[in-house]
Amino acid sequence: MSPKSVAINTLDWFAKQVLDWSRSHGRSDFPWQSNKSPYRVWVSEIMLQQTQANTVVSHFSRFVEEFPNIEALASATEDDVLSSWMGLGYYRRALRLREAALQLVEQFGGKLPRTIPELCSLPGIGRSTAGAILSCAYNLPAPILDANVRRVLSRFHAVNGPEESRIPDSKLWQLAESHTPNDDVGSYTQAIMDFGSKQCIQSNPLCDVCPLRGRCIAFRSDSVHLYPKPRKSPQVVEITRRPLVILDSQGACLLKRLGDGGTYSRLWETPDLQPNANVEQTLAQMQLPIETATIYNGGEISPYNVSNQRISESVTVVRYGLQSSVIGTPTGTSWYRNHEETPLGMSVKTQRRIDLARNFGVQS
Ligand code: SF4
Repeated sequence: MSPKSVAINTLDWFAKQVLDWSRSHGRSDFPWQSNKSPYRVWVSEIMLQQTQANTVVSHFSRFVEEFPNIEALASATEDDVLSSWMGLGYYRRALRLREAALQLVEQFGGKLPRTIPELCSLPGIGRSTAGAILSCAYNLPAPILDANVRRVLSRFHAVNGPEESRIPDSKLWQLAESHTPNDDVGSYTQAIMDFGSKQCIQSNPLCDVCPLRGRCIAFRSDSVHLYPKPRKSPQVVEITRRPLVILDSQGACLLKRLGDGGTYSRLWETPDLQPNANVEQTLAQMQLPIETATIYNGGEISPYNVSNQRISESVTVVRYGLQSSVIGTPTGTSWYRNHEETPLGMSVKTQRRIDLARNFGVQS
């Protein structure tokens, strides 16, 4: 059978199967599913944009405890929000969340609006996130099209396959809209997201026990593995880094703030030793008045590798311990002791470097 030979006539049937499936297989124990409010739905949707649900679970409760509502988030500092976001990655989401909270207070009376265009006018909210907020928080009929839903629709309708160029989003949105019911839309939205993440999963989907298999075009044409067409893997860039961890005699670490833009925008980080610069030259560039004679425990720590889909980093932490604790704070830098005393926004990578340097001092 050709993948395109089965007619699409599945409107209510599809939604009904997915909803029935969710009654016995869907998840209802996520913290954002209890005490549901537009604010909690919004925060969870932003966290879930690029982070696995199981990772979000451990951060969500702490975040909403620290910032329980839109006003609290709007009046927090960038560092407070970034610090609380630590471990979730893609830190620009945290900055946009705070910017959106400020905009909500200024323009919407501190409440999340109820229309797609208004929601999409806020930083960090696209059409799918807006749809999730409307359906899950307000039970208003609005489709979503996150990665899980794309995968289910692509297979069920056999679109976006190997012989097609990537189909326009408008086609997938049409399909998503056609399946979204008018009633109990919040339950359907949660159900289709769960279905994509537990049943119609990326590798080895559970087709043999799938309630959609009777009408799933990819399954019926034995071509599930072809949908959706895989994205081209980005070329992995190899980087060598030598972060300089400067510790004063009390263990405080000197960090510099990164500028706007890039993955780590506005975060605090250890300075890097440039390939052709030594420690003294780097310190001079930072205008840090330190003599090498003040080092009491310096040196390189065994290299390690950090990789993701795009970057493979070989990291050698260079530790630079000082005898003094009073050496000034150059412009754009700060001394960091711990999150309680100095809550600075930093990545897990930076915290790891600091921990390595501190422990190196203890062991040697
Ligand atoms: S039959 Fe397989 S491919 Fe089709 S929707 Fe179900 S799990 Fe996904």
